[in-house]
Amino acid sequence: MPGTRSAIVLASGNPAKRAEIERMLSPVRIIPQAELFVGDAEETGLSFTENAILKARFAAERTGLPSLADDSGLETDALGGAPGVRSARFAGEGASDDDNLRKLLAELKGVPDDRRTARFRCVICFLRHAGDPIPLICEGTWEGSIAQSPRGTNGFGYDPVFLVGNGSLTAAELDPAIKDRLSHRGQALAELARQLAGC
Ligand code: IMP
Repeated sequence: MPGTRSAIVLASGNPAKRAEIERMLSPVRIIPQAELFVGDAEETGLSFTENAILKARFAAERTGLPSLADDSGLETDALGGAPGVRSARFAGEGASDDDNLRKLLAELKGVPDDRRTARFRCVICFLRHAGDPIPLICEGTWEGSIAQSPRGTNGFGYDPVFLVGNGSLTAAELDPAIKDRLSHRGQALAELARQLAGC
């Protein structure tokens, strides 16, 4: 595949996620799988880890490149961990970020602030090649709670309703560089950098 030497294929079609990963892994060359026409893996796993491995394996098999997958989502305690691995399709297949966020607020209607605790989880899987028997698996979590209504314009997904830590700012109100430092994805990628440095 011309022009792809030393590059990593990113097993995600989500442009907002891609922008965060590119920013945090810079100057590593990241090629989104859509640019290589590989299609999308089916996310049939029951956990973030299963889905991350599935997606990374699919992208490496189809491209012959090292691959990186991120499987992530939001868990809310009042909803028994939902939406979890279904975060991207909480309001149905093809749902927009806004549809998902509205459904979340509707399901949490009437739940008081002290019972709205939640966390983002991210699992990153890095494969050196499709048959790599030792995938690097790195995890990050970001604790917070769910606001009563959306605020802020940065980020994506559930960021406008995710109150960071015990504070009053949503993730969508944070400067992107601060989100990168605190977030589940930022933590998982920092761990990946540590593991790669130790290889
Ligand atoms: P995936 O592509 O199946 O891993 O879906 C991830 C989904 O989880 C996204 O579509 C968002 O709804 C949600 N999500 C993951 N990370 C974030 C984040 O950093 N901010 C807001 N929502 C996120």
